[in-house]
Amino acid sequence: MVLRFLNVVLLIQSVLANCEIAMTKHIFVTGGVVSSIGKGLTSASIGMLLEARGLRVRMQKLDPYINVDPGTMSPYQHGEVYVLDDGSETDLDLGHYERFTSGPLTRDSNYTTGQIYLRVIEKERRGQFLGKTVQVIPHITNEIKESILRLADANTDIVITEIGGTVGDIESLPFLEAIRQFPQDVGRDNCLFIHLTLVPYLKAAGEIKTKPTQHSVGLLRQIGIQPDMLICRCEQNISREEREKIALFCNVAFEAVIEEKDQDFSIYEVPLSLRDHKLDEFVMKRFHLTGQPLQLEAWDNMMFSLRNPKHEISIAVVGKYAEHKDAYKSIYEAIDHAGIHHQAQVRVARIQSAEIEEEGPERLLAGFDGILIPGGFGERGVEGKVQAIRYARERNIPFFGICLGMQCAAIEFGRNVVGLDRAHSTEFDKDTPAPIICLLDEQRKVTNMGGTMRLGTQPCILLKDSAAQIAYHTDSISERHRHRYEFNNIYRHQFEAHGMRFSGQSPDGNLVEIVELPSQAFYLAVQFHPEFKSKPTKAHPLFAAFVGAAVQRRLGRKQRNTPPETTDRTERSSIAN
Ligand code: GLN
Repeated sequence: MVLRFLNVVLLIQSVLANCEIAMTKHIFVTGGVVSSIGKGLTSASIGMLLEARGLRVRMQKLDPYINVDPGTMSPYQHGEVYVLDDGSETDLDLGHYERFTSGPLTRDSNYTTGQIYLRVIEKERRGQFLGKTVQVIPHITNEIKESILRLADANTDIVITEIGGTVGDIESLPFLEAIRQFPQDVGRDNCLFIHLTLVPYLKAAGEIKTKPTQHSVGLLRQIGIQPDMLICRCEQNISREEREKIALFCNVAFEAVIEEKDQDFSIYEVPLSLRDHKLDEFVMKRFHLTGQPLQLEAWDNMMFSLRNPKHEISIAVVGKYAEHKDAYKSIYEAIDHAGIHHQAQVRVARIQSAEIEEEGPERLLAGFDGILIPGGFGERGVEGKVQAIRYARERNIPFFGICLGMQCAAIEFGRNVVGLDRAHSTEFDKDTPAPIICLLDEQRKVTNMGGTMRLGTQPCILLKDSAAQIAYHTDSISERHRHRYEFNNIYRHQFEAHGMRFSGQSPDGNLVEIVELPSQAFYLAVQFHPEFKSKPTKAHPLFAAFVGAAVQRRLGRKQRNTPPETTDRTERSSIAN
C-alpha cells in the first residue's frame, strides 16, 4: 500500500517535471547602442550552450527590412545569402546558427517585415479579416507572434528569437511591440529578454562608460520591455563595481550582467567566454530547468586544434565581391573548419577577380597553396576568374570551384583545352558559339526574380573512385543549390575526351553537379554550395580534401626548400568581427 502510494507520488513528480519542460521557453535577443554589435553570433552562442546543457533549441531571426527575403539583395547590402535545406534564402546570421547549433532551420527560422506584411495583405485580400480595418496592432503584431509560435512545438524546449536592427530604429518597432505582448500569451516566466549592448572604453577618461547601456535599456523600457539579462560587448574587462552599477541602473540581477569581451583570436571562443560568465546557469535557473552539466568536449577539442596548428598554408579566394568580408562568409568559415580538421592555420587572401584582369594572375596569385573560386552573379570579374583557374590548372595548384566557380572552370577548360573558341555561359554572352553553360527550359520561362532559382537540397550520385566519392566516403549525397544556369550536356563527350571527369550528377543523369580533372593534384568544382553544411566541429568533406591537398603542396615545397611567398594580403578568416 505504502509502496503504491510512493509510486503514485513519483509518477506525479515526473509528470510535473515533464510539464515544466513541455511548455516551450522563449528567449528574445535585442541589440542596442550600435549596429553590427554581434547579435547573430551571440544568439548562436547562447543556443550552443543551451544545447550543451541537453536542451532542444530552435533559432529564429526577425529582420526589420521590407525585402521579402535577402535573395534579391546585393552582397554589398547584405553580405552572403544563406540557403537552407528547404531552399529558403535567408540572412547570414542563420549560418552562425547552423554552425553553432543543431536544431533544424527552416523557412520559419527567418521572417522579414516584407514577409509579415505580405502574409497579412494576402489574408486581407482573401477577406479573412471580415471587414475590419487592418492595423499594425493587432494584425501585424499577431502575425509576428504566430511566426514565433510556429517554432514552439512539442519537440522544442527553447526558441531563441533574434530581433534584427538596433533598439530605437523605427523599422523594428512592430517586432519589439510583438515581443512585448508575447509574455501575456505564454506567461512572463516562460520568456527571457536578453539585450546586447556596447560598453565602450574611453581612452581619454581611462574608464569604461555605462551610459549608452543605460539609455538603450531606457528606450526598451519605453516600449514596455524590461530586459532580464544584459550582455555587454566591451574591449576592456568590466569590474565588479561597474557590473553592480549597470545592474542597479538598468534594473537587472547582478549575475545577469554578462561581459562579452571582443575575441581577437576566433569567433568560436564566444560561447566559452559566455560560459565563463555563467550565462547558461542563469538561463537554466531562470526557467527552472535542470538539464545536464555542460558537455563541450567536441568544442574544446576543436578549440585545441585551432590553437595548436601544426601547419600553415595560404589560400586565395578569388571573387567578385572579395573586398566585402561578409560576401563569402560561409566559404571563409568552411576553409577555417577544414584547417581545424588538418590542424593547419589557414591564411586567406580575398582577391577581387576584376583585379586579376588588370594585373594578371602571376602578380596576384603567386605563392598560394590553393585557389578557390566562389559563386556569383553578373559579368564583372568573370574573365579574372577564368584566368585564375587557368593559372591553377597549368601549375597544378589545388583548385576548388563553387557554383559560378564550376561554371568558370568549364568555360576555361572549354576554351583552353577542348579548343572551343569564345566558349561561355549564356548568362554573360547570349550569342556565344559555344554555350558551355546555359539555362534549362524551366528557367527560361521565369520572370519573377525572388525565390525562383534552383534552390535548396538536391540529391547527387557520385562516380565510383572519383576524388569526390573518396572525400565523401559514400555514393550518394545531397547538397544545397542556388543557381539558374547548368552545364550544357551537348559538350559532355568532348570534355570527357579531353580528360574532364563528371563525377557527380543528378539521379536522372541530366544535371552535372561535380567536375574533376584526375590528372591534377586536386581539381574539383561543384555546382552546389558545400560551404553551407560545414561546421567547426565537422569540416565539410570537400573543403577538408581541398585544404588537405593544399597542406600536401606546402609540405612538398618545404621539402624542396621553396619558401612560401609573403602574403601580406592574407588574414585568418574566423577572426572576431
Ligand atoms: N550565376 C550563376 C547561375 O545562376 C551561378 C550562381 C552561383 O554561383 N550561386 O547559375
